[in-house]
Amino acid sequence: MAGQSVMLVGSRPNPCKPPNVHALFSLRIHLEQREADRMIKGSCCCRAVKFELLAEPSMMGTCHCSRCRKVGASTFVFVKRNDLKWIDGKEHVALFQQGSPYKYGRCFCKICGTSLGEILSEEDSFPIAANALDGELALENRFHEFVAEKPAWYAICDDAKQFEGHPTPS
Ligand SMILES: [Zn+2]
Ligand SMILES: [Zn+2]
Repeated sequence: MAGQSVMLVGSRPNPCKPPNVHALFSLRIHLEQREADRMIKGSCCCRAVKFELLAEPSMMGTCHCSRCRKVGASTFVFVKRNDLKWIDGKEHVALFQQGSPYKYGRCFCKICGTSLGEILSEEDSFPIAANALDGELALENRFHEFVAEKPAWYAICDDAKQFEGHPTPS
């Protein structure tokens, strides 16, 4: 990947030769490609909803509360609203807003039902469902919350910190 075109950056321009526009063009394409590779893509199961994250999410956690379990999205990542770029299908995202005492709603694709976390949130930072992200992340699950509500059929198999309810600072 980091082939020829990157070498150009370090090479000294020869004043006797006109610049090689093809090489410069290929360098630009190469850099744009690297930018695209860093982008994290997300989508729903039917692919009507597509988005990208311009930066790696800050944190990954897993919630074992009955509500997260019902909507089928227990593992989530926190993203900044400014890092979320809509590609397609925002109009297909529905918001399920449960009454008191629940403050935060849950989003899903109206067509296929894929859980999308709080992707329509107006907050600066919010959790989205990790299941909606395509490809790998440089993140690991950092904690388990609401472990008190976890059913016995689900075994926690990592060493991440566990909290009975909301995470508390240690
Ligand atoms: Zn869908
Ligand atoms: Zn939960």
